[in-house]
Amino acid sequence: MSAPRRKLFVTTALPYANGPFHIGHIMEYIQADIWVRFQRMQDHAVHFVGADDTHGAPIMLKAEAEGVTPQQLVARIAATRKKHLDGFHIRFDHWHSTDSPENVELSQDIYRKLKAQGLIYAKPVEQFYDPVKAMFLPDRYIKGTCPKCGTKDQYGDACENCSSTYAPTDLVDPYSTLTGAKPELRKSEHLFFRLSDPAIVAFLRGWTKQPAPGQTLQPEVLNKIHEWLGDADGADKLTDWDISRDAPYFGIPIPDEPGKYFYVWLDAPVGYLASLKSYFDSGKAKAYGEQRPFAEFLSAPDTEQFHFIGKDIVYFHTLFWPAMLKFAGAPYKVPTNVFVHGFLTALGEKMSKSRGTGISPDYYLDLGLDPEWLRYYIAAKLNDRVEDIDFNPDDFVARVNSDLIGKYVNIASRLIAIIDREFDGQLAAEPFGRFYSAKFGPLEPQEKEPREWTIGEEDRAAANCLAAILGLNREIFGAYQQREFGKAMRSIMFLADQINEYVDQARPWVLARDPERRIELQRICSFGISAFKILSAYLKPVLPALAERVEMMLQIAPMSWNDTRTILASSHKIQRYKHLMSRIDPKQIDALIEGPKIAATKPSPVAPPAAFDSAATPAPAVPTISIDDFGKLDLRIGRIVNAEQVDGADKLLKLTLDIGEGRNRTVFAGIKSAYLPEDLIGRLTPMVANLAPRKMKFGLSEGMVLAASGEGPGIFLLAPDAGALPGMRVK
Ligand SMILES: [Zn+2]
Repeated sequence: MSAPRRKLFVTTALPYANGPFHIGHIMEYIQADIWVRFQRMQDHAVHFVGADDTHGAPIMLKAEAEGVTPQQLVARIAATRKKHLDGFHIRFDHWHSTDSPENVELSQDIYRKLKAQGLIYAKPVEQFYDPVKAMFLPDRYIKGTCPKCGTKDQYGDACENCSSTYAPTDLVDPYSTLTGAKPELRKSEHLFFRLSDPAIVAFLRGWTKQPAPGQTLQPEVLNKIHEWLGDADGADKLTDWDISRDAPYFGIPIPDEPGKYFYVWLDAPVGYLASLKSYFDSGKAKAYGEQRPFAEFLSAPDTEQFHFIGKDIVYFHTLFWPAMLKFAGAPYKVPTNVFVHGFLTALGEKMSKSRGTGISPDYYLDLGLDPEWLRYYIAAKLNDRVEDIDFNPDDFVARVNSDLIGKYVNIASRLIAIIDREFDGQLAAEPFGRFYSAKFGPLEPQEKEPREWTIGEEDRAAANCLAAILGLNREIFGAYQQREFGKAMRSIMFLADQINEYVDQARPWVLARDPERRIELQRICSFGISAFKILSAYLKPVLPALAERVEMMLQIAPMSWNDTRTILASSHKIQRYKHLMSRIDPKQIDALIEGPKIAATKPSPVAPPAAFDSAATPAPAVPTISIDDFGKLDLRIGRIVNAEQVDGADKLLKLTLDIGEGRNRTVFAGIKSAYLPEDLIGRLTPMVANLAPRKMKFGLSEGMVLAASGEGPGIFLLAPDAGALPGMRVK
């Protein structure tokens, strides 16, 4: 590659730190990681960073419910990241947090600069307030009766029954989902970013048309933006953006506005820059020869800034984010492009964290499934459009077993065995590459002196095969560049077919029996192994760990993109064939699918507080007891200090509980269908402490935790209000 070295800054959307990664996160990271690895194979400098998105009411409230600080909650989730990122070979250069000094500094700096431009103003806002909880309620914590159709327990923005949309204040009999209290309307001053300012709207019209020279947004994204922006000559549709929230709020304080915090969506994207700053400050960027400090790198005209995101957050990333950066001014710079993908569905159903649906990446790794199977499958399904992709188990098995193993690995396993057995690992001395080089241009065999040699039939067949391989080089390059990974995989597998056909016709296993034809045999195998090396280089962005094994086996330096155009040197010596990748055993995929079914137990439409819906409570089917009977129960608050899967148990999780007695209790609880172990650790929950210990197949159970369940699916563990401590008696 003679192109100048590009300097890229690449991010993925920041995951909300209230739970571990779900498979949708992993898909996005794999998409970005493939693109980043492809750029790096061309020797471009790519700084690839991520971070946890930590602020906002949901994390504050979840931490409170668990009796921990938001920082403790976020730290616990952050500790789960490494396993998944390493496990799927996703190589961020740096992982940081929006709850960091860098993010405070940068968010406040951007705010001050926007304010100095006259783009921030204050305006009173009337909003629902929970008098019991003493806080303003985000819309998602308000429910009530639909004003249009009268359906109960609908969220504050839209009715699930009749699909009409409205404001939370339109709800009939609204209630706070936090306390059940009737919310009051209260006024408070909020700060707004003037997104409707004519200068901003004019800028956005231009930026969305051409974010950077040679860059365009995806057509589906542009269509959506046109809806939001309205016609150029018509009335502008953009409304100003409410960027403040009142205490109590887990977030970044707004300068000179006591008791006010940035709305989480203001500081979350700034987290990209905070992570990059932390990465530069730590000196890690020097690994790519980058000596400049953060601000200088960020503002340099030749620094390219790319964001990979899902289709649900386009509004934030193509309107607010570029506008904030543009009008804050140097050292901030607008994104070079924003790449949007659809959702990952499993058997047609959307995988989402909030519903707990989907294949658990944690479970995938725990089952010992090869992470590169998933990387390949996702690559094979991805294109540059905003389309959902579906995880289909049969398709998954077929693609891995027939494409990767049956076509690609098959080439190496057949030929390397012969080279090893017949030639002690030595490739042919004939510089067959010269001939192809003269005929097909860019091929450069890795040897110095050309030699005279004759062209036999086998060379013509090899020449045709190589012509096919080189003929698709630009196309595969372009497909990777455009994130058309599915197209790239199809081309690569087409080439694998060509190479297998060449080998089938050359029949090296037959030649191996004829002592007269050893030179021919060696050349055929050598060519096939060279072709395999080229395929391995093509696949390296998708299968980085497998590529490393190939490099080791072929005794070659780490492959760059140049390796997609070169064959192996004459007389090169390679190692013995080593196992490269296993086929998927259908039992493994069954187990994987079993997982999502368990995790996919759909909570029935969120249960309202009991006090508000007596109809949902079936009449008790057990006889009345006296208070003395109840007094026989020793109910205690326990803290779940550990939770883990139980080998061989379909329904049970093993919980370790601290109930303040100086030792921990083990309880086997039938809640596996509803909870991931890592989500339980740290939670408080009541348990029956004086239940006779019970010997079970998996060990001794010393008590029982309490959970609610009904006729529908779903199990709901009980939790005390904030302030309860392990060991407290429940009565
Ligand atoms: Zn309705």
